[in-house]
Amino acid sequence: SKTAYVRTKPHLNIGTMGHVDHGKTTLTAAITKVLAERGTGTFVPFDRIDRAPEEAARGITINIAHVEYETDTRHYAHVDMPGHADYIKNMVTGAAQLDGAILVVSALDGIMPQTAEHVLLARQVGVDHIVVALNKADGTQDEELIDLVELEVRDLLTAQGYPGDAVPVVRVSGLRALAGDPRWTASIEALLDAVDTYVPMPERYLDAPFLLPVENVLTITGRGTVVTGAVERGTLRLGDRVSVLGADIETVVTGLETFGKPMAEAQAGDNVAVLLRGVPRDAVRRGHVVAAPGSVVPARRFSARVYLLSGREGGRTTPVASGYRPQFYIRTADVVGDVDLGEAGAARPGDTVAMRVELGREVPLEPGLGFAIREGGRTVGAGTVTDVHN
Ligand code: GDP
Ligand code: MG
Repeated sequence: SKTAYVRTKPHLNIGTMGHVDHGKTTLTAAITKVLAERGTGTFVPFDRIDRAPEEAARGITINIAHVEYETDTRHYAHVDMPGHADYIKNMVTGAAQLDGAILVVSALDGIMPQTAEHVLLARQVGVDHIVVALNKADGTQDEELIDLVELEVRDLLTAQGYPGDAVPVVRVSGLRALAGDPRWTASIEALLDAVDTYVPMPERYLDAPFLLPVENVLTITGRGTVVTGAVERGTLRLGDRVSVLGADIETVVTGLETFGKPMAEAQAGDNVAVLLRGVPRDAVRRGHVVAAPGSVVPARRFSARVYLLSGREGGRTTPVASGYRPQFYIRTADVVGDVDLGEAGAARPGDTVAMRVELGREVPLEPGLGFAIREGGRTVGAGTVTDVHN
């Protein structure tokens, strides 16, 4: 039988971001190597991270690599992505749900366009804590040059609303650490310490009623229907009653697993598989929500603040007007919606606007909930629900 999952440390989701070739993947591999040597992780070589599997997150294909490791105090799931477009898609749809990010900046090149864009996106989607890895610090003896790059990065962060003076900036070399050079191995340890201490434990609403957006549905022969996804809030135990919103079903949890291991209790932030008693496979779909009975009310109408991606960010090149009918990606659901821009009547790519939306069907909604807007196969906006109208 399988070993049970033992929760010994709090869990956080982090990821690398930054300009192409500044060393994100090398640094990710180096982190796993340093922690493997400490005995709290498994080394994942560069090639296994860079050839990331394609994931269909909210109906969009994203290349994303997940690695898992522990420091002395925490368990981390860390994501790394190969291309700039993967970052845009991942961050605006919130696929990675980052609690914090490691901004990788080459000390030899300084800020580049994608550095600035990723910081902007991080701000837009609510990643409140960034730690900076000034990478490739092995490549120059000129400390003053690195000082200048550090200053430049702090200014960029401040300009985007981060506490640029307080953000930890650590000079590292992923490449030399990967080669086992003790000086640079120590730099990776220092970076991890900065992440451990600077990125706070997110409030995971452990006491709130349970909610799980369904990402996938599978059948286990002889056992029944299993739904998978990341727990948004609350806790779940075997035997708990739950509602499946969208399917209009109330049932009981008869099995619970994480990373293939049985668990006694699932908590907000966990990636889980939930076995549901007596539910036919066809009844449940991606986009449905499993929740504590009576805890959420589905609705069709809401108000929102939305950032329309500029053409340069992969968004539209032409304005939108009231009557616009794009797809709304809300949690894992994909629903068409009618947009009303009110007095303004129209908005341009690059603008942040207020809108009212009427969805084609009901989904659980609440103020503060993030979503993406898609059109013709690409993401054109990212928003937050401000009010729900019944
Ligand atoms: P990514 O596109 O940000 O994931 O960057 P990669 O990790 O693929 O690295 C891009 C290039 O920079 C590769 O040739 C790496 O070997 C090199 N590189 C990465 N980290 C370092 C470092 O710390 N020092 C030096 N000198 N080169 C590095
Ligand atoms: Mg890479």
